[in-house]
Amino acid sequence: MIAGIDIGGTTSKIGLVRDGRVLAQTRIPTTGHADDHAFADALAQAVRALAGTGSFPELTAAGIGAPNANQLTGIIEMAPNLPWKYDVPLARMVQDRLGVPCVLGNDANAAALGEWRYGAGQGYKDLLIVTLGTGVGSGFIVNNALVLGSHGNAGELGHMTLVMDGRACTCGRKGCLEAYVSIRGLRQTYTELDGDPEVLREEGVRCIADAAHRGDAAALQTFRHAVRWLAVGLANAVVVTGPQRIVLFGGIARNGDLLMAPLRERFQEALLNIYSGRVDLTVSALPDDDAALLGAAALTTF
Ligand SMILES: [Zn+2]
Repeated sequence: MIAGIDIGGTTSKIGLVRDGRVLAQTRIPTTGHADDHAFADALAQAVRALAGTGSFPELTAAGIGAPNANQLTGIIEMAPNLPWKYDVPLARMVQDRLGVPCVLGNDANAAALGEWRYGAGQGYKDLLIVTLGTGVGSGFIVNNALVLGSHGNAGELGHMTLVMDGRACTCGRKGCLEAYVSIRGLRQTYTELDGDPEVLREEGVRCIADAAHRGDAAALQTFRHAVRWLAVGLANAVVVTGPQRIVLFGGIARNGDLLMAPLRERFQEALLNIYSGRVDLTVSALPDDDAALLGAAALTTF
């Protein structure tokens, strides 16, 4: 049995995973701890408490997905959305406390491994997984291996420049794909198109999708733009690693009629002709609630 841990900006989820299923789960706050050591104590305690609640098999490993995590070093490197503004060697800290091997990985890579091992990517040797959420994360599987690069942080499709001198991105650069097709990106598009400010009173993009279904012109146009940008971004990625399949993950990708159907068409048009009809585009097969935990657990098995 593996402990899968997903570190988020406000909450960290912990799950016990076996054979691609989450047997039990709990959560602890990520914030409010005295320091990173106190957080690691709380994390280990929560894992032990959860494992002690049933007659689970013995814990053999722990996998942790976190923003800005470097799988090569086991360190969370100054993550802007986490409480610690310094490097945290969390893999070693959790390993010491739990007494089992621990692998730390970037949350997007964890999601990619989860999808590859347990979801819509099973059986594909060349795969690209893109998470559309607060940011845009991605993981590239090439020839049956996750691409980490020499520095441990390869495959950041969200920060590929899509528009020269375009929108400001959270990374400090301009025109990144993430600035256009993340939740923030879609909301910004809607605002730039003079959409109804009332619609944006709600967080996320569901509100824009609902408006589009009511016939709101700016909302419909927002999704059309997102489809165009995403089609080009994905087609650019294809010329680099030539995947057989691309899996999209996250709430935005769940908009079948507004996003996925037109995207499949635009993506084929944007592809370099040698790839035409040869790259399949699909949506994650994992339940949203379990995906991060399965992905974190999957980090330990590669
Ligand atoms: Zn960026």
